[in-house]
Amino acid sequence: MPEFIKKSYLCTPMDIVDGYIVDLKGMKDDAVSHHWVLSDDFFSAVQGDEIKHGQVDVALRVKRTSEAFELDFQYEGMVEVECDRCLELMNQPIQGQCSLRAKMGEEDDDDGELITVAESSGILNLEWHLYEMVALEIPIRHVHSDGECNDKVMECLNPQETEKPVDPRWAALEALKTKTNKK
Ligand SMILES: [Zn+2]
Repeated sequence: MPEFIKKSYLCTPMDIVDGYIVDLKGMKDDAVSHHWVLSDDFFSAVQGDEIKHGQVDVALRVKRTSEAFELDFQYEGMVEVECDRCLELMNQPIQGQCSLRAKMGEEDDDDGELITVAESSGILNLEWHLYEMVALEIPIRHVHSDGECNDKVMECLNPQETEKPVDPRWAALEALKTKTNKK
């Protein structure tokens, strides 16, 4: 577990659960913690466009207040995404935090600021929220470090940039030809 998660979350017991859900209705205490590892299984189940593989640790702290449930997430890990330059897969480190608010209501809803969870179930499914959180941490332009792009692909994409320098003998001949033509 990453160090930052240990620091902030080890004070309360961890609930390791199947699925990425929080049982809001069943909360016995006013604060509960969850810890998940988003791995390849998660990313293939969610079927997002951008991320197919990865390993991201997520720690969630849920606090029940008189008005709502406050959810604080911290996450850290690595995802595999396409390099913008050579289109090969590259590892993108991910680290961040975010908060969500949820309340009970008549039916499931999400207006972007407040999630409403149907009181009948009281279960908040966070699968898509977790995916979006991680996807949002990917920089708009993400590329391999210099020199690590796939050369073959780069050649096809930008032939002029990787063209070999002209053989000096041919260059001399070319110069001669130009001179001759001018006469
Ligand atoms: Zn690349």
